[in-house]
Amino acid sequence: MNVPLVDLQEQYRRISAQLDEAVHRIVSKGDFILGGDLESFESEFATYCGVHYGVGVDSGASALEMALRAFDIGRGDEVITVSHTFVATVSAIVWAGASPVLVDIDPKTFNIDPDKIEAVITQHTKAILPVHLYGRVADMHAVQAIAKKHGLLVIEDACQAHGARLDGRRAGSMSNAACFSFYPGKNLGAFGDAGMVVTDDAAVAEKLRLLRNYGQKRKNRHDLLGYNRRMDNLHAAVLRVKLRHLDEWNEQRRGAARLYDELLGALEWVQLPVAPEGESHVYHLYVARHPRRDELAIHLQNNGVSSGFHYPIPVHLQPCYDWLEMRHGVLPHTERAASTVISLPIFPEISKEQIEYVSSLIMEFG
Ligand SMILES: *Cc1c(COP(=O)(O)O)cnc(C)c1O
Repeated sequence: MNVPLVDLQEQYRRISAQLDEAVHRIVSKGDFILGGDLESFESEFATYCGVHYGVGVDSGASALEMALRAFDIGRGDEVITVSHTFVATVSAIVWAGASPVLVDIDPKTFNIDPDKIEAVITQHTKAILPVHLYGRVADMHAVQAIAKKHGLLVIEDACQAHGARLDGRRAGSMSNAACFSFYPGKNLGAFGDAGMVVTDDAAVAEKLRLLRNYGQKRKNRHDLLGYNRRMDNLHAAVLRVKLRHLDEWNEQRRGAARLYDELLGALEWVQLPVAPEGESHVYHLYVARHPRRDELAIHLQNNGVSSGFHYPIPVHLQPCYDWLEMRHGVLPHTERAASTVISLPIFPEISKEQIEYVSSLIMEFG
């Protein structure tokens, strides 16, 4: 049996009629840039998240950088985030001109440890940027309390958490602005790169609309130094179709996670993700820990099963971040996670048989 880490072809196969219709509608009208489906999707996704405004951009990485810029965060400013994340979280801070300040994670949740934040706040700190890693919402109550106490902005990296909730509120609605990626493999994925910033702040939304479109309020008038970073209508049309399936897909992911939990729960040498109550986890990834995860990955691969490491080298130890001068050992929980995590196949359409097969391979590996 072959089990991929994610299976985009199977998703397409099941809703291809709806998706083909959406693509055809855009192509036949020649309606490619701004307006139309982009505006509709922005308002539908913002409403889904529980906020007023959505601004579609060309990637999650752009969303993060532009959100920071829209709040005038730049040179001389510090932004607190984690090192156990996809590199773009940190790179966006640097692109905006600010300095990333990286703190350790809570090893149980893989998310920012709120107890580590206050010690690194300085007079230059402008924002906290929590990441809802793997689809699990960070401890936003604690993050918000710290931000309020110190007068800081909060910007969510929700690139892995479409639809996740904390006490009824969706990821994206618990901060000044939140950034999403619609990279094809995310829980809500386009037919290429796309992203969005969602916010309740009308002025920030307006600034983002200028930034993504050459800083242009009206034709040939450039009020801001902008970019060309719009979300294409083709992606918006595809995402409108897929948004209607997102809750069902997330429920299927939670079902798959529960089955892994059941089948692997008794194994001493495997540490499973700690499952929070309710809908606060949307399992973008199902990440276990194993002391010999490299060998386990090879064993799985030899038997037709793909797995992944998210992420094997923490951002602070990447060659491009040498200049941060953060040595081995400074973020112990982050570094331990990097060397033990293994992501098992998970996607809405994964079958019971596939999960049982993956689990049996893990049990026989020991
Ligand atoms: C995917 C991702 C990003 C970047 O999104 P892109 O659309 O690939 O640019 C940023 N942060 C996290 C946590 C991500 O998973």
